[in-house]
Amino acid sequence: MSDFDGLKALVTGGASGIGRATAELLAARGAQVAVLDLDPSSVEKPLLAYSADVTDDASVRTAVAAAVADLGGLDVLVNNAGIGAHGTVEDNDDAEWHRVMDVNVVGMVRVARAALPHLRASSHAAIVNTCSIAATAGLPQRALYSATKGAVYSLTLAMAADHVREGIRVNCVNPGTVDTPWVGRLLSKATDPAAERAALEARQPTGRLVSAAEVAGAVAYLASPLSGATTGTALAVDGGMQGL
Ligand code: NAD
Repeated sequence: MSDFDGLKALVTGGASGIGRATAELLAARGAQVAVLDLDPSSVEKPLLAYSADVTDDASVRTAVAAAVADLGGLDVLVNNAGIGAHGTVEDNDDAEWHRVMDVNVVGMVRVARAALPHLRASSHAAIVNTCSIAATAGLPQRALYSATKGAVYSLTLAMAADHVREGIRVNCVNPGTVDTPWVGRLLSKATDPAAERAALEARQPTGRLVSAAEVAGAVAYLASPLSGATTGTALAVDGGMQGL
């Protein structure tokens, strides 16, 4: 019997990239998995799919309730939906700050709020937030994005403290540069995408980007009873970007 057998998991942003890889890994290991996404049309069985926008509280509550009803409970929330932002503080106006904060930070809060009553009923409850090395690395041209992920990091620590006595663990993963459609979209805007990709890879201590499956492995560990005594931590999955 695997450590994932019988676990009921909800993955936000699970139609693409890191969320998709996580949903597929958890399902392959025996969990029952529901995906919540803006556009879940590409999600296939055995994954369950629910359409919701994490900036819309009513749609989140409806989708989480439907997912929990279909799964028959909830043990794991992978709070992963997120969007990027480029530039210094002079490049993004107030509306853009509110928009990205609303998805990346308040979006996670909305889903957590809807999920917590169900997680309290689980004997293996875990929340894993997708943070980023941007939370602590001081990356150039990422002021707004970094601020959202700094908030996700602090939120993870605060939620871990608030819910540990209820038996709910809260951790986050801090990926480096991960080879997902998101990075593909960024590279496609470059004058020479192949050269830009090579330059990006050369900046990685490992000489390559992190794969979505490698982030999924870290999320799965933090989501399962294998990490049963771990809460309030950030697990770097960055190919050595931080600290080297
Ligand atoms: P992605 O664009 O491939 O996937 C993101 C998914 O989130 C998409 O399916 C999208 O539809 C969904 N989504 C976006 N806004 C939503 C909303 N308002 N409501 C519901 N769903 C929404 O991106 P990814 O690279 O897999 O990123 C996933 C997470 O990983 C994000 O939180 C991102 O900040 C984080 N991350 C990514 C990288 C990277 O290099 N790719 C690095 C560190 C952290």
